[in-house]
Amino acid sequence: MPTCNKANPIRFLLAFFLLPLWASATEFTATPYGNVSLPFELHQVDGAPIYYVIGLSGVPGSNNEGHTSNAGFVVTDEGVVVFDALGTPALGSMLLKRIREVTDQPVKRIVISHYHADHIYGLQAFEEHAGDPPVWAHRQALDYIGGSTASQGEDAQRRLDQRRQALFPWVDEDTYVVAPDHTFEDQAGFELGGVSFQIRHVGPAHAPGDSILLVKDHQVLFSGDSIYKGRVPFLDSPQTDTRNWLKELKQLTQMQPPPRFVIPGHGEPSTQTAEAIAMTRGYIEFLREQMGQAVADFTPFAEAYENTDWSQYRDLPAFDASNRGNAYRIYLEMEAESFE
Ligand SMILES: [Zn+2]
Repeated sequence: MPTCNKANPIRFLLAFFLLPLWASATEFTATPYGNVSLPFELHQVDGAPIYYVIGLSGVPGSNNEGHTSNAGFVVTDEGVVVFDALGTPALGSMLLKRIREVTDQPVKRIVISHYHADHIYGLQAFEEHAGDPPVWAHRQALDYIGGSTASQGEDAQRRLDQRRQALFPWVDEDTYVVAPDHTFEDQAGFELGGVSFQIRHVGPAHAPGDSILLVKDHQVLFSGDSIYKGRVPFLDSPQTDTRNWLKELKQLTQMQPPPRFVIPGHGEPSTQTAEAIAMTRGYIEFLREQMGQAVADFTPFAEAYENTDWSQYRDLPAFDASNRGNAYRIYLEMEAESFE
């Protein structure tokens, strides 16, 4: 047996390289909701008081601490407007910390793109540590949290239960879903500190309530999950409507004047709307084409899935987690459309 003496090379490696590496890799920021060990870098839009964070690719899990979606905020002379709140209370707290590093202005409003777990669990941190600013979301958010039908409220509960497992300890028994304070139907506009904001409902697309926020004075668009970049989009929800989604994407490319900066719900921002939507549009079109043909030929789903050439998407993050479910969802959607 080797003995542990000073000359032992393993001990030497551990003491001088591996342990310091481990120590630096586990540096973290403490929040009231647990430690976050991610870098959590804040970016600023060129020439505008608009900031954003970019989530990691992939599906929420302990490897990314739930940080998979994007969020941002706009600083005005009268307060801050936040767009989306990230996927855990700890990440919401990190976002608040970054806001405090930029400005002392109070958070006056939070606009939520859609009520999905990866964009809303951070609201808890704003409710408990930023004066409970009003949350704005599309009316459909009330359905999700159980406002009108029991089954949709169950979806929110089921997702919370799933995240308490998948994202523990960042999502735990104390995590709760914050309801919107104000809802809108087709659109809502407001001004704060001389800056004009326009919210527009573009769903049902990825989700029924999908909404976008345009910061008009700066022509910066927060698109929420109507635009995904750098990963396979998530389409596997009973409410996903890809036909309307494609229509809305097209309308985004026709906005006048065109946004000069687009921050998607997932993935890197872009200065060109056409480039920003290309991945999402291409993927949806491919799925509709492949699954639509299978439905027309009466090919069973499993066989159609096997026979499809997925090579252009196979290496993208979230492919394994989402692609088959997405394809099945589109298969059902194309089947329903064939009966129209
Ligand atoms: Zn999302």
